[in-house]
Amino acid sequence: MPRLISILMLTIPTILTFMALLSLFLVLNNIIFAYGAYWFFYKFLGPTISHRQILETKPTLAQINKEKRRTFLTLFIFLLMGTGLYICYRLDITKTYYVWDQRGKWYFFLSFFLMHQFHDLYFYATHRLMHEWKPLRRFHFAHHESSPPSPFAALSFHPVEAFIQGLFWYITAFLIPMPAFWLFGFYTFMSYINMWGHNAYEFWHKDLFTHPFLWILNTPTHHNLHHKYHKFNYGIYYNIWDKICGTNHPEYENHYRAVKMKSEISKTSRIFKTMKL
Ligand SMILES: [Zn+2]
Ligand SMILES: [Zn+2]
Repeated sequence: MPRLISILMLTIPTILTFMALLSLFLVLNNIIFAYGAYWFFYKFLGPTISHRQILETKPTLAQINKEKRRTFLTLFIFLLMGTGLYICYRLDITKTYYVWDQRGKWYFFLSFFLMHQFHDLYFYATHRLMHEWKPLRRFHFAHHESSPPSPFAALSFHPVEAFIQGLFWYITAFLIPMPAFWLFGFYTFMSYINMWGHNAYEFWHKDLFTHPFLWILNTPTHHNLHHKYHKFNYGIYYNIWDKICGTNHPEYENHYRAVKMKSEISKTSRIFKTMKL
């Protein structure tokens, strides 16, 4: 009976309202993590953080315009897929629920953790598959036209890849019980991390690889090198799967240390200059 009520309440205006809200959510995320990040790092801070630049070159205007066009299409695909998922949710056929602490407060946080770990694996596996399985490779290489990447490249996908990325949300919603809130919260978190991966500047800890906790994290250098060499470094949040599967770029750690060394030298020379004054 409750399911029947849900179906009856699922009217066209309800769906259109959801689509309007989802559009706003997707566009706002993109404005903050692509346009905002580009302005902040490349324009506002740009000249003062050149010593943190990971790769030698910067993206051209033509490349950025292409990334913007592809992102627009990706967001449209996410909008359609998100609406489909909303209909599934309203039909009560997913494991997603409305009340955030329905399964207890501890599970609220655990469900985020589970989705996060699952996405780390899903991203690694599908990304590697798109590199190693020929039929998918040509679709993924649209994303690799961004070299060096920029924050606008984070969602610059061929529609087929956008669909593969969108599938994650369906699999998660049908597999992992979680409050609907997390689908939006996690998308925002993912956009934030994705922005860093496509950012030209390295801000992570200088002794990352020997740090007791931080060694597990991926870095902007890690994904920048992936865009440069078109292979190795398939992971997103953590360096676990690349380590286990032996797919870190052989020069990753050296390149990271060289970028951090450049930063440290620049910092020291700035201190000396200040002392002379
Ligand atoms: Zn790739
Ligand atoms: Zn990328």
